[in-house]
Amino acid sequence: MNYPISRRAATLSPSLTLAIDSKAKEMKAKGEDVVGFGAGEPDFDTPQHIKDAAAAALAAGFTKYTPSSGIPELRQAIADKFQRENGLTYKPSQIVVSNGGKHSCYNVILATCQEGDEVIIPAPYWLSYPEMAKLAGATPVILETSDKTEFKVTPGQLRAAITPRTRLFILNSPSNPTGSVYTPDEIKALGDVCVEKGVLIMSDEIYEHLTYDGAVVKSVASFSKAHFDHTIIVHGFAKAWSMTGWRLGFLAAPEPIAKAIDALQSHSTSNPCSFAQKGGVAALTGSQEHLPKWLAEYAKRRTAAWQKLNAMPGVTCVNSKGAFYLFPNISGTGLKSAEFCARLLEQEKVAAVPGIAFGADDYIRISYATSLANIEKGLDRMDRFVRGLKG
Ligand SMILES: *Cc1c(COP(=O)(O)O)cnc(C)c1O
Repeated sequence: MNYPISRRAATLSPSLTLAIDSKAKEMKAKGEDVVGFGAGEPDFDTPQHIKDAAAAALAAGFTKYTPSSGIPELRQAIADKFQRENGLTYKPSQIVVSNGGKHSCYNVILATCQEGDEVIIPAPYWLSYPEMAKLAGATPVILETSDKTEFKVTPGQLRAAITPRTRLFILNSPSNPTGSVYTPDEIKALGDVCVEKGVLIMSDEIYEHLTYDGAVVKSVASFSKAHFDHTIIVHGFAKAWSMTGWRLGFLAAPEPIAKAIDALQSHSTSNPCSFAQKGGVAALTGSQEHLPKWLAEYAKRRTAAWQKLNAMPGVTCVNSKGAFYLFPNISGTGLKSAEFCARLLEQEKVAAVPGIAFGADDYIRISYATSLANIEKGLDRMDRFVRGLKG
């Protein structure tokens, strides 16, 4: 039979990340000693009080449908978070809780973009953004950046890319995959361009709490009423509370957009998991003691990995200021990223994600959400691999 595959589904690029990941897992299953730098998630466990809150909700029978956009208690806790930490005043009706930050992003793009529209995405980008734009029928417009500018787009670059068809500018700081963090002045300047041109901003702030070296994160929504009105913030519990498997994310948007997303979600997924939402309340209102401990640990790993990477011939790496990724430039090795990662895995049993997955073929992504011992071992192997190429 000739199975129908829709034009939308057929235009999606399959995930390179997953290809490397499944190869690494296959090797591990065969008992091979693979070191993985591919993880896009914290290696810490979810804090106990959050698990307890969800378990208690489950035990108490909190197992039914909730309002599609999330329980009022959680939407209020999210509105309180934005007020307390960001000085932003949202009504609970402007908050939508979804099945992960990724789902929030998809909801935003689907609710605001369609055929004929353009979505401006700085590269290196989180690999799902362009695919989501395509799923909405829109065209991704990619803005190239490099390590020379810490992977940041300039206001001039953004301005030049805006056309009458531009619907959305996607901002992700701290960034996955580069770990780059825009300064408040840089964020404001990009926001100014969008306000002037009437372009909506989707600001993915999921790594807000993961920064180093005193880097300051300021939401683009916080500079003026106009910036606020032009911004949709996407956020979630996955990274700062290590809740990737819970599938819980949220967004804050101008009221008409939040309403449209509520309708969209009510006909697609309905509410996110009821007892996971109770865990989300505990995450926002409970102790944040875990965070400084995690950050201290990430900071140690980041420094160790950064030093080792820069000691490799043909490899240079700018130090990241946020998230848990480094994005070394491997162009000096003479290999492009997919071949580099395939051979690194084959020869030295080290898994990393090729930059081409993020629209940057001269780089690879190293996640340091893994132990110091793994970092030492894996990067020693990578050092040997790179020296072998030279010799
Ligand atoms: C991890 C991540 C998300 C959201 O992940 P979920 O698991 O869906 O909450 C969103 N954006 C970026 C850039 C991420 O790295």
